Amino acid sequence: MHFYYRWKKKSDVTENLNSNQIESHKEKQYTNQVVDKDNQSIEGNLIYNSQSIPVLYYHSIDYEKGNELRIPKEKFRQQMQYLKDNKYTTLSLDEFYNFLVNNNPVPNKSVIITFDDGYKDNYENAFPILKEFGFRATIFVITSTIDKEKDFLTSNELKEMSSCNIGIESHTVNHDNLNSLDYDAQIKTLKDSKEFLERILGKEVKYIAYPYGKWNENTLKAVKSAGYNMAFTTIGGWSNKDQGLYTLNRVYVSNNHNMDEFKRRLTNSHYEVSN
Ligand SMILES: [Zn+2]
Repeated sequence: MHFYYRWKKKSDVTENLNSNQIESHKEKQYTNQVVDKDNQSIEGNLIYNSQSIPVLYYHSIDYEKGNELRIPKEKFRQQMQYLKDNKYTTLSLDEFYNFLVNNNPVPNKSVIITFDDGYKDNYENAFPILKEFGFRATIFVITSTIDKEKDFLTSNELKEMSSCNIGIESHTVNHDNLNSLDYDAQIKTLKDSKEFLERILGKEVKYIAYPYGKWNENTLKAVKSAGYNMAFTTIGGWSNKDQGLYTLNRVYVSNNHNMDEFKRRLTNSHYEVSN
């Protein structure tokens, strides 16, 4: 697993709303109230796609000394508790896509939770907490690791999570640095990873996070041609439509950050990025 140790040290560093719920978002916009998936009324204004939304990105949820990519489970729980206590709505990537492209409104306290690489601890440690809080999230998985590498997710775990509000999307076949591949090789890893996941999950895979946050001009054509609708980078900051659907920013969550830093990134759309 040479690649695992290589990237884990670097700073390479959601089930969908059904149509009724999306309709209820639309209907409720005049009253400044929305209904979450538990049919509870959420206070707050709706926002439209002139606004930005924080897309958090995590890797591993399991403490390891000196590794900022690995967030201890209890720290992750505190962050999720903060989202719950402060009445955040976690969006699926389909909801986010509809917000960006179709201008479907979402609650102003919306957030998107993502995980890169597909570590087994996402199932063992993060998934129970996400379920407990009723949160949506998305995991971008490296398909060559599935059922092969013990520290990574299995197809059964992916299927179970996929049926419980967790979107499973692509992070290429081999954690490929797309910037270093020619166009045909990019198309191959983009398509192969997508088809592999679609076979396991029985649902369409439409989103990707670029490994190492690397891409080039060919990538922007290749992801579109391979059938993806959105792609995420590791450029820090909140996401909005002006960034382009294939180069969306994300908010890095590191174990070097304390709770104040987490809140700062979550509540300030123009937070200063230093990683
Ligand atoms: Zn990665």
